[in-house]
Amino acid sequence: MGVLGLNLWLLSFPSLDPLERLDRITLDQFFKYRPPLRTDPSIVCIEIAEDSLLQIGRWPWPRQYHAALTHALQGWGAKAVVFDILFSDPSSPSDDKAFAEALAESGRVYLPLVLENHRGRPVWIHSLASFERHAKGVGHINATPDRDGILRRVQPVLREGSEQHPYLSLKVAYDLLGRPVPPPERLPFPRDRDGSLLINWAGRWTETFRHYSYLDLLRSFEAVNHGRKPIVPPELLRGKICLIGLTAVGHTDLKAIPLEPVYPAMGFHANVINSLLTKQFVTPAPLFTNALCLIGIGLIATVLFMLFRPVIASAASLLLGGGWLGLAYFLFCCDSLWISVAHPLFCIGSIFLASVVYLQVAEEKTEERLSDLATRDGLTGLHVIRHFRGLLNEATAEARRRQAPLSVLMIDIDHFKQVNDTYGHPAGDRVLKQAAAIVQSSLRESDDAGRYGGEEMIVMLPRTSLEAALPIAERIRAAVAQATSDFREGTISVTVSIGAATLDPDETSPDPMVQRADEAMYQAKQGGRNRVCRKPTT
Ligand code: GH3
Ligand code: MG
Ligand code: MG
Repeated sequence: MGVLGLNLWLLSFPSLDPLERLDRITLDQFFKYRPPLRTDPSIVCIEIAEDSLLQIGRWPWPRQYHAALTHALQGWGAKAVVFDILFSDPSSPSDDKAFAEALAESGRVYLPLVLENHRGRPVWIHSLASFERHAKGVGHINATPDRDGILRRVQPVLREGSEQHPYLSLKVAYDLLGRPVPPPERLPFPRDRDGSLLINWAGRWTETFRHYSYLDLLRSFEAVNHGRKPIVPPELLRGKICLIGLTAVGHTDLKAIPLEPVYPAMGFHANVINSLLTKQFVTPAPLFTNALCLIGIGLIATVLFMLFRPVIASAASLLLGGGWLGLAYFLFCCDSLWISVAHPLFCIGSIFLASVVYLQVAEEKTEERLSDLATRDGLTGLHVIRHFRGLLNEATAEARRRQAPLSVLMIDIDHFKQVNDTYGHPAGDRVLKQAAAIVQSSLRESDDAGRYGGEEMIVMLPRTSLEAALPIAERIRAAVAQATSDFREGTISVTVSIGAATLDPDETSPDPMVQRADEAMYQAKQGGRNRVCRKPTT
């Protein structure tokens, strides 16, 4: 549950970059693979593409062309004419006059404005007042890509200073719906956490909406005027929302969107108008829904990983993660609902990792316990003699290979029978346990101790000569003699007799050395107990 808590915590910090980015990338992929959206057939794009520039000349064009097209579209019964072209600077008086007259005549033209940064200060840049006066509506065309350079959202309404303007296509759509644009706080469509509208990209530029060439329309206008057959029959433009903008590569306002690396700004408006007219919006799932899904997935993952071993659990986590991704894609395709994918995947991954680590640790602990059960004596915690013999054989082979010394100590508690007889067997057990603990704590990392039998213990000291072994033996003897055990039965103190011996370079088995240590121990007993004796090699 700790990992789940961490995930919930992460979810409450939506600005956290990596997961947020992963979510965005997933959404981009969803857009790419989703079938195209239903589009409103009245939206048409009039493109100023390479063909128009080749024929008419370099950009910007004399405004008489825009005047002529506006006039043509008016005559052909277009429902709305939306310029994604800013007319902020005056051109020739005759051109400007012609365009202003065309705008006045049409009464259905929408003009853009932009909020620009001038020496660190945001300033609204309008079209010429003589144009704007005749526009049916104006709106901003600011569209800022996310930090990765991809445009995903636009601000429905921008406010700066005393001016507040809706996004141009929002204004157009609301006019067509016959309603005023609501104030920002009462916009009725789903928005991102910062209030922006996620553009619901309908499909690839060339595959969605109807497209006409600006040049073809001008030529058609001319043809109709001269009684010739037009390239584009005028009735195709009747009742249409005509978006006019640049699509020629190399001109400004071509941005990357989730679907395509290059997409004309006019297309943003086509998509936004389409969203509003067909009521198809990207709906980011509320934080609460995302959190609930996260908890559910976390619980399923926890149960799965508790039940199964890592191999099956990893397959289950892939299945769970893949299933979630599939479900998110399905919801996006059906309903344009955007549910968090990154957080649940992170949750599954982290719970899986935690479970693998937990299982590994638990397994190691079990193995250690089983190994202890097989190799350690239950009462003293020292090695059982069978295991100790194996260790001693290895140490002997190692000593011979390295030509290093190896010594052993044989330790026997003095008059232990009396302890049992006086205080009882359980007290004797505790004394034995305490003596073993003292022996164990006197050893170095490389040393080992075993229970030889009864109250007899054996210690092996690798890389230790007989001379070096004696002080160790003496330390053990003194420590046992000093220790007193306070029991219910009274204060008990015991002593030990220790025999020390070392491996002869000629010996291939540790047995003679153990035998000598045993003899030295008996020598200590005979010498009065509570002492260390040694038996050198002969
Ligand atoms: P010493 O070695 O000094 O000659 O005298 P001792 O009394 O210790 O004599 P010995 O070594 O012959 O006796 C060992 C006694 O240790 C006999 C046995 O009852 C007791 N003993 C052996 N193993 C255990 C054990 O696990 N627990 C208890 N409480 N007593 C044990
Ligand atoms: Mg004894
Ligand atoms: Mg004994």
